[in-house]
Amino acid sequence: MKSSPHMVARAARQCKNWTMTVQRDEPDWFRMEHELDPSLPDDFSMPVLHRRSRDAYQHVGVGGWTGYWPPEDLAVRPDVEWTEEQKVLVLAAYREKWGRFLEPNHTYEINWPPEPYLVDDGYVVGGALVCNVHTDEGCMECDEFHEGGEVRPAEWTWSAMIEMYEWNGNSGFPESFEWFRFLTMRMDPREVDYEPFSTGRD
Ligand SMILES: [Zn+2]
Repeated sequence: MKSSPHMVARAARQCKNWTMTVQRDEPDWFRMEHELDPSLPDDFSMPVLHRRSRDAYQHVGVGGWTGYWPPEDLAVRPDVEWTEEQKVLVLAAYREKWGRFLEPNHTYEINWPPEPYLVDDGYVVGGALVCNVHTDEGCMECDEFHEGGEVRPAEWTWSAMIEMYEWNGNSGFPESFEWFRFLTMRMDPREVDYEPFSTGRD
């Protein structure tokens, strides 16, 4: 039996460092990145994130997470749109991976939209004042400085529940299910919306 190239590709996970200004409203805030499961086609259209009113939620700043509850419990699901086309592609990718193990009277069905989970809340740390042009701490040529720093992006994963149906003539029932994690979204940790820390369970 051949080993799946998808599984090999998935095993390698890159570790990157992002260095950037920590000030809000800077144009070079960390821009959202998507990492798609390699089983999906390259032209898969990534979901579009809609911004909510920032005032209604809490956000982490340079100090990091200060809530009592774990951040993943208070993180509000990103407001993204999912389409039928994406649904078809995700199910097709799953079938391509695992369909050969199905019995003739089994099928896979997908629950849509997918579910998000905040696997990493990321962080922002402040740094020394550096000049805007050369990113130099002791620059003698520049007048304008900003605070340097480092950002580790927050990471959301998106998974769709795949149910295996067993069919008996025209009647089928779900026999088992599995979560298919097909997309990781990385975003600026300061842009993750959290329920206000003081309300809810504490
Ligand atoms: Zn300079």
